[in-house]
Amino acid sequence: MTQQTQQPEVNIGLVGHVDHGKTTLVQALSGSWTDQHSEEMKRGISIRLGYADATFRKLPDVDPPECYTVEETGPDGEETEVLRTVSFVDAPGHETLMATMLSGAAIMDGAVLVVSATEDVPQAQTEEHLMALDIIGIDNIVIAQNKIDLVDRERAVESYEQIEEFVEGTVAEDAPIVPVSAQQEVNIDLLIDAIEREIPTPERDESESPRLFAARSFDINRPGTTWEDLKGGVVGGSVVQGKLATGEELELRPGREVEEGGSSEWEPITTEIRSLQAGGQSVEEVRPGGLCGIGTGLDPSLTKGDALAGQVAGEPGTLPPTREEFTMDVELLDRIVGEDEGAVEEISTGEPLMLTVGTATTVGAVTSARTGEAEVSLKRPVCAESGAKIAINRRVGARWRLIGIGTLQ
Ligand code: GDP
Ligand code: MG
Repeated sequence: MTQQTQQPEVNIGLVGHVDHGKTTLVQALSGSWTDQHSEEMKRGISIRLGYADATFRKLPDVDPPECYTVEETGPDGEETEVLRTVSFVDAPGHETLMATMLSGAAIMDGAVLVVSATEDVPQAQTEEHLMALDIIGIDNIVIAQNKIDLVDRERAVESYEQIEEFVEGTVAEDAPIVPVSAQQEVNIDLLIDAIEREIPTPERDESESPRLFAARSFDINRPGTTWEDLKGGVVGGSVVQGKLATGEELELRPGREVEEGGSSEWEPITTEIRSLQAGGQSVEEVRPGGLCGIGTGLDPSLTKGDALAGQVAGEPGTLPPTREEFTMDVELLDRIVGEDEGAVEEISTGEPLMLTVGTATTVGAVTSARTGEAEVSLKRPVCAESGAKIAINRRVGARWRLIGIGTLQ
């Protein structure tokens, strides 16, 4: 089992159709589900997005790609060299969780698209997830052609060709396709090699003001805790720029809804960073990559039950504005991808849309629609910069379907 000693420096999404082997592959790459957060945090996160850190290592005196491993020791007991720690975001494959995949995509620096060799390509979510990567602009992609242990040579070649044909003209056109068996741990070294080449750690500018996308928030106190022992609310998420340190002031936007004289208004929340957790330990500072937990001075009732998920946190006074309505440029897909595909109709005034902005998902009503542009009024406001990318979903039948991409004006 690998030991987590370093903070992860890059987030890699695992995407693809349900049952194609994403979770199994994360296990093969990380040794096991890591025990990196408090029990409360782990339990919570796995419901939404599964996170697991993996430290890539290299056998000394062996050439790539055979040198790559996640083991601490080689076949002769020799110590392996640490390359870097990466954090995998295991997106759920189930269709109704597309919104979760999209909000996860906001914090992905690259992605591994898992495609089973046992089924024809593409399956519904294979196509939908690739479209989402395209829309969010994630172009550092590696394709894992999985379950090669279950097919004969002829089918393996056929599946490989189907994948090549499927990605032609998409953001994954030049992505390497690595045949693997996640379950039998075959070609994991080749996969790490491809990830090392295709998904480098982005250059980070530490002088940028810190920004965290909150994915979760909780109350970690047991019921019945007396107020003297009560711990402040915890916010979990991913730093996307700059760095956060203990002792610093923190602002969260949109913050909280305050009722006053019959009307309500959203007010930013400010607090202090009392503790930080990342890479399995208490730390003083957190940089981009992986997931972190922030112990705050907030009343835990404010953070309970993901109340602050989707919010943006950073240094007071530096965050983008809170928007209860906005106008976006709209680029619609030609057709709805995945199952029961159909042409995408223009957006009409009055229709409800589900919008994913950063890690926030909110429902908005279209107040004015023109070709290439729409104004929406949101049920819950979002904190977002002009130029932010928005995944636009429309209700089709029983579920929300991705119909296009918006850019906040
Ligand atoms: P996910 O829905 O994409 O996360 O898929 P899972 O990782 O849960 O895998 C679905 C099923 O396929 C499980 O029963 C796995 O044991 C199995 N599986 C995953 N990868 C492989 C593989 O490479 N070979 C074989 N034979 N089975 C696999
Ligand atoms: Mg899974």
